Amino acid sequence: MLIAHRIALDPNNVQATYLARAAGVARFAYNWALSEWQRQYVAHQAEPALPAPSQLALRRQLNAIKRERFPWMLDVTKNAPQMAIIQLGKAFNNFFAHRARYPRFRRKGVDDRFTVTNDQFRVDGKRCYIPRLGWVRMREALRFAGRIVSATVSRRADRWHVSITVDATEASLPPAENQGVVGIDLGVSVLATLSTGEQWPGPKALRSLLDRLRRLSRSLSRKVKGSRNRDRAKRRLARLHARIANMRRDGLHKLTTCVTGRFHTIGIEDLNVKGMLGNRCLARAIADMGFHELRRQLSYKTAWRGGQVVMVDRWYPSSKTCSCCGYRLEELALGTRSWTCPECGVHHDRDVNAAVNLKNMAMSSIATACGGKGPGPVREHGAKPVPVKQEPSGKR
Ligand SMILES: [Zn+2]
Repeated sequence: MLIAHRIALDPNNVQATYLARAAGVARFAYNWALSEWQRQYVAHQAEPALPAPSQLALRRQLNAIKRERFPWMLDVTKNAPQMAIIQLGKAFNNFFAHRARYPRFRRKGVDDRFTVTNDQFRVDGKRCYIPRLGWVRMREALRFAGRIVSATVSRRADRWHVSITVDATEASLPPAENQGVVGIDLGVSVLATLSTGEQWPGPKALRSLLDRLRRLSRSLSRKVKGSRNRDRAKRRLARLHARIANMRRDGLHKLTTCVTGRFHTIGIEDLNVKGMLGNRCLARAIADMGFHELRRQLSYKTAWRGGQVVMVDRWYPSSKTCSCCGYRLEELALGTRSWTCPECGVHHDRDVNAAVNLKNMAMSSIATACGGKGPGPVREHGAKPVPVKQEPSGKR
């Protein structure tokens, strides 16, 4: 299993300049290759005898001309342009497989990153070696043992990070202390409710910092374009965004570490996050809570402990069904926090009831998995061998 650890770097001024330069070279190479790809594609369409573009050919082409035309590329690691073009090739593969949109040009200040391959990169305690630069201090040591696959250095707000991808196939943690099942209801007003009745309020990062965010965005919009003041306000805003994201991720890690350490099987709803984000009222609250990130963390953390995540179909009415007798309400408004079952008279907290239903669905899925046929609306989501990253980089 591939896992990435993102660590903040502590570069000195000379090193920070190098990192910015290497990121600039990577961006230039990516954009050069993308426009070259488009040109060669058009030429290939017009004249099929010409070769179709490929990342391998583009890398050779750049290597042949860079000494002549882009000599400044030689100042930084050769990995920076090479890996950028390989990444462009992957972006096109994803596009052809309908997994992603057509690759777009990288922008300065947004896509400041470059990747180093494992033969060029080393870690030694709290420092890492970057070719043509030397040792750079890291804020903490690499947490995962295993073969290093690659490392990506990127800038978010004003801070540089290295994201080290490790093949942690051997990684495993002791199994959960309790071999039981838990259901987690992901909420809007609270981050999560467990079927045990525990509630996780979640980091109210965005909410508490929202006023500041609003104030800063407003002050940015008032600044004259191109002015130094605007630059400074922009940087301040970016730092605030980064801080909110860090707090959010931290809260999710605490929840998922706690839950996966305690329970073997975890039932959660397969929420249609994309669909819900389309709904403007819920959008901010949900984006703040990071459902997708929560699910991702649960998946790999249970995999480490030999546990499993059971995804319950998003159309299963977990909130509207009575967890005691199975009675199903016709209607339950989003604002209704609790209700009484007309069939058996039990009073339910909306979220706890939903979590108990998810737990029951997860339990029945284990039972049917042992018994053979299992036509329930559940999808098992155990230790699947997808590369998971602890910290997502790039799109957000
Ligand atoms: Zn009932």
